[in-house]
Amino acid sequence: MENVLEIQNLHVSFSTYGGTVQAVRGVHLELKKGEILAIVGESGCGKSVTSQSIIGLIPKSSGKITDGSIIYKNKDLTKMSEKSLRSIRGAEISMIFQDPMTALNPTLTIGDQLIESIRQHQDISKTEATKKVLSILHLVGISNPKERLKQYPHQFSGGMRQRIVIAMALICEPEIIIADEPTTALDVTIQAQIFELFKEIQEKTGVSIILITHDLGVVAQVADRIAVMYAGKIVETGTRKEIFYKPKHPYTKGLLSSVPRLDLEDEELVPIPGSPPDLFAPPIGCPFTARCAFAMEVCEKVYPNTYSFSANHHVSCWLQDERARHHLISTMGQS
Ligand code: SF4
Ligand code: MG
Repeated sequence: MENVLEIQNLHVSFSTYGGTVQAVRGVHLELKKGEILAIVGESGCGKSVTSQSIIGLIPKSSGKITDGSIIYKNKDLTKMSEKSLRSIRGAEISMIFQDPMTALNPTLTIGDQLIESIRQHQDISKTEATKKVLSILHLVGISNPKERLKQYPHQFSGGMRQRIVIAMALICEPEIIIADEPTTALDVTIQAQIFELFKEIQEKTGVSIILITHDLGVVAQVADRIAVMYAGKIVETGTRKEIFYKPKHPYTKGLLSSVPRLDLEDEELVPIPGSPPDLFAPPIGCPFTARCAFAMEVCEKVYPNTYSFSANHHVSCWLQDERARHHLISTMGQS
């Protein structure tokens, strides 16, 4: 499959009063055409910062892409002017945020907002724009769209509002949609429906989607591929099946055992003990060392190599090294 987006060696830092935080530390990731890619990890792992980098939304006052590139249609988005980025944002790459209310104007009807955002990017008549809005509202599962066009955001439930935000993101027929924790504010049943909707939209329109979440469970049904992030790095990527049934990284396994599963009764949910490392002074070795039950001497000293198990399944962990199996690994890094 063709890649629509390629992130290469992305580094992003933030300067704060306490020093420089290295939020993203060498991320490599591609988004394939027509796939749903989930980026999963705990709060502060760099998943939101990675996605904000794509559309130039890193706050200029404190944040900076210090290295790497993000290639979209043969152009490096990290080198683009704010003006060119603005024409891509919304029209070609759309972003959906956690709180639907921040994306909607409470003083305008849904219809006016949607029509306005079409006409911002496309030179079409109001009648034509309205037609388009109606068909998109239908696509995102809003019934009675003609009536609902006249209503204001507060007249919709949380789940319905998030559907409208998704409609807003779809309105210019983007190539890519990035959704950052799009359902966190919603209850579990509605969350599942919204994720189903992403899947449906992907199938009907062919758009490529990046879903960002701290909850591996919610993407279980919809993601084609999953990238697990930890302390500013991607530690494991694989297809949904590979991640759920053959996870290799101890952190991925930890995330999985903190996800409730319908197929296992009475199982105990085990949170991962400890907390992620301080990214003011990130560890040179494996960032998971302090929390990992399998940590070896080498882990602390040298960042693990990446080992591949299929075209899609890659993991950065010393346990996958031949030498680990023969207990020879503690001498690595010196040799
Ligand atoms: Fe654990 Fe070492 Fe693998 Fe890191 S490299 S996850 S510390 S075994
Ligand atoms: Mg976030």
